This record gives sequence, C-alpha cells and structure tokens, in this order.
Amino acid sequence: MSPTRLYSPVPLQPHSQLTLDSGHARYLTRALRFRLGDTLTLFDGSGGEYDAKIVRVGKNGVDIETGTFLDRSAESNLAIRLVQGISKGDRMGTVVQKATELGVQRITPILSEYSVVRLDDGKAAKRRDHWQKIAQSACEQCGRNVVPIIDEVISINAWYEKSHSGFSTQVVLTPNAPTTLSSTRHSGTELTLLIGPEGGFSNTEQERAISTGFEPVSLGPRILRTETAAITAISVIQTLWGDFA
Ligand code: SAH
Repeated sequence: MSPTRLYSPVPLQPHSQLTLDSGHARYLTRALRFRLGDTLTLFDGSGGEYDAKIVRVGKNGVDIETGTFLDRSAESNLAIRLVQGISKGDRMGTVVQKATELGVQRITPILSEYSVVRLDDGKAAKRRDHWQKIAQSACEQCGRNVVPIIDEVISINAWYEKSHSGFSTQVVLTPNAPTTLSSTRHSGTELTLLIGPEGGFSNTEQERAISTGFEPVSLGPRILRTETAAITAISVIQTLWGDFA
C-alpha cells in the first residue's frame, strides 16, 4: 500500500519536529488509526517530500518527526493555467479537484455575465480558501508535491484588463468553434485554458477573449457541462503537449 501523504501548511525541514493541525491529527488517529511510530509522507507544497513518523500522540495533538527530504516531482512539463467560470453548487470544487489530479498548475476562478453564482468579497474569499483546501487534499491523494495556486475570484472583465503573457498559447473552449485542440498550434511550456460557466460566455466576453489572443476551440458537437469540458480539455492538452504525451 502506498504511504499516507499529508500536506503541511507549515514549511518543512529534514529531521525536525512539528505538531499537526487538529484536522490532520484527528484524521490520522481516528480515521486511519495511526499510532506512535507509524510512518507517513509529508509535503509542504513547495516541491519534494519527507518521510515522517509519529513521535507523540497526546490529548492535545500529534507530533511528527520528519526524516530525509526526497526531491520527487509529479509535475507536468506543461504549465497549464485554467481560467474557469464559476458554476453553482460545488461544481467548481469538482473542477479544482480533477484539474489538480490532471496536473494543472494554476486555477483562476472567474465571474462572468451569465454566471448563475453571485459572490460578495467575503464569500469569494471563503470560497477561494475552500478550493485551495480541495487542491491540497487532491495533492495528498494523487502524489503531487506542488499545490496548484488558486487565485482570488475575479470578474472576467477585470481579468482581461490584466496583462497576458504573449508567449503562452491561449485557448477558449467555444461550442461550435471551427477549430479543435488537435489543430491548434502550440509551442513553449505554458498554456492558458479559458472555460465558461454553465451559462456560457456572452458574445461580448467571447469577442474580447478573441481580441486578447485566445483561439476558440471546440470539443465536438455535444454541449458538455462545464466540469466535463474542463476534465476533457485538460486531458486532451496533456495528451497533445503535456505529460500524457
Ligand atoms: N449554454 C452554453 C453552454 C455552456 S457549457 C452555450 O450554449 O454556450 C459551459 C462551457 O463549457 C462553455 O462556455 C464552454 O467553454 C465549454 N463547453 C461545453 N461544451 C463544449 C464544446 N462542445 N466545445 C467547446 N466548449 C464547450
């Protein structure tokens, strides 16, 4: 069985002790029934991982001692940035989890004209923290040691105002577009993927994507749910230019 992997929000050092946060401590001792001396793997999201062992189980917490550092990486050679329209419910959570498993490096949640969801600043910050935690758990499960960055929620117009790297390939998923991913030209190590929320993009937003340098691409003649579109497009991109290739 592969070792249990935990994300540490505290930066790690080899051969040093730390006290686990209460959530992880409960998970280890209650759900997984870990005991003194049991071993696991810890990573802090900055790359690489540490073997670790439980050195104290007390009423007020669990202490872990790290061992040696292992510079292991499961990162893709292609830096995929997903700019995703937020949908209602926790579809965005699903997208963050799957995109993390599929190797996306950065996720920008956007609100657009046809977004069903409305978020004030406080709520948006809470959602972002929630999605960041989903990305951390997905890394624990899938073996990544670098946690994708979840950006702050931003309106699509404000996002367009920001500068966009002229070097990165930029594609916007557009039902009925005349081109597909496999006919898109790509070179380099970065790719930005823009996907609409369940209501799609308005004509103005779509036109602005194109004038910003995004190529519209289709995923076939069926309209996919936004989360299906994300999982599918990332898989195709990793197959054509990333680490499924
Ligand atoms: N009612 C919307 C559909 C939105 S689906 C419309 O007709 O435009 C949500 C998002 O998923 C879309 O904005 C698009 O980015 C992506 N998507 C869904 N199906 C797709 C397909 N077949 N090709 C390309 N993109 C697709």
